[in-house]
Amino acid sequence: MHKNFKNIDKVVFGRGSFSQMDDILSPIRSENQQFIVFIVDHYFKGKPLENQIPAKKEDMIFFIDVDIHEPTTDQIDELRDKTISSKGLPSGIVGIGGGSVMDIAKALSLMVTNEGSSTLYQGLNLIKKPGIYHLGVPTISGTGAEVSMTAVLTGPEKKLGLKCDWTVFNQVILDPDLLSTVPIDWWFYTGMDTYIHCIESENGQLNNAFSHAYAEQALKLCKEVYLGENSGQTPENNEKLMVASLMGGLSLTYSEVGVCHALSYGLSKILGTRHCYANCIIFQHLEDYYPEGYGEFTQMIQHHGIQLPQNLSKDWSPEQINAMAHVAYNLTHMWNHAIGTNWKETITIELLEDLYRRM
Ligand code: NAD
Ligand code: ZN
Repeated sequence: MHKNFKNIDKVVFGRGSFSQMDDILSPIRSENQQFIVFIVDHYFKGKPLENQIPAKKEDMIFFIDVDIHEPTTDQIDELRDKTISSKGLPSGIVGIGGGSVMDIAKALSLMVTNEGSSTLYQGLNLIKKPGIYHLGVPTISGTGAEVSMTAVLTGPEKKLGLKCDWTVFNQVILDPDLLSTVPIDWWFYTGMDTYIHCIESENGQLNNAFSHAYAEQALKLCKEVYLGENSGQTPENNEKLMVASLMGGLSLTYSEVGVCHALSYGLSKILGTRHCYANCIIFQHLEDYYPEGYGEFTQMIQHHGIQLPQNLSKDWSPEQINAMAHVAYNLTHMWNHAIGTNWKETITIELLEDLYRRM
């Protein structure tokens, strides 16, 4: 079966395009109980952007501290209950922030129309009713959450997305100016998520002309941003990074991620390490699997003076390493793509434990 994905309905791109949000939301405001819910990264509280959010007196704004934890099912249920009990069904949800905030906005847009806890819907196509209009504004680029059909949530039992066509944003505003305040280390780790998406998408069974076209262009942009003559956090590079993130997301959607992401899920699941950072910690040990990408990644690290931690595993117990290896091993679709359907001949729990011990 060929993959058949829903895309974002509308995308606006360009520096300063954030100011178009008021116009974009205007026709939506007559829907349902006629108010908008804004989910905003708490970083922007008290910053100039806060005053540019086109909120009206009837709207609700939630500032979310994404550094406390990644989005959880409890958090979504609570936001949903607060919203519905105070004002009813919103006209739309707007998420302004990184992958965490965008995932919250996506999940909330689904959970205001679907009864019960969001834990009931973690998985593929479990959502029963369409959600409401939702708009995403990335303020840090790399995860591809702006384009993906999943809203990743950590629940009591699993970290798994609400994944269906209705999860995809109705509108995305790509304003590269919003990236200007991202700290250099996060700019690096999050951008490397895009780079790794492309390397993994390209190097595997499911790569095809469609996914390749996106990955090829996104990789070119990443190289300009992180290795080119004018590399660094410039306005021009922020434009490129924003486009690369979206294209990298599309590439992996039509292909698959691989070894790094499989291991990264193990690390995040057992130790709570954040996605993009976990990828960087792991990718520096994947020379055997992605030699070319590894070489470039190493150059990019050196070029930007990024210090990645070494010897982390000395503090991990054998049980933790074994648990990480099992999480990674069970991501069958990634191994099928990265290694081939006979992957079990080479990838074993022992080999994965050994990889984790190198970290
Ligand atoms: P994030 O949203 O977790 O934010 C990272 C940090 O950057 C935070 O401290 C945040 O406050 C800060 N920040 C964001 N924008 C800023 C700005 N403009 N200036 C200064 N600081 C800013 O970052 P992320 O890496 O984009 O997202 C990670 C999350 O995305 C995880 O929860 C992960 O599960 C999820 N994710 C989702 C998908 C998907 O397809 N839905 C894919 C990968 C990861
Ligand atoms: Zn990723």
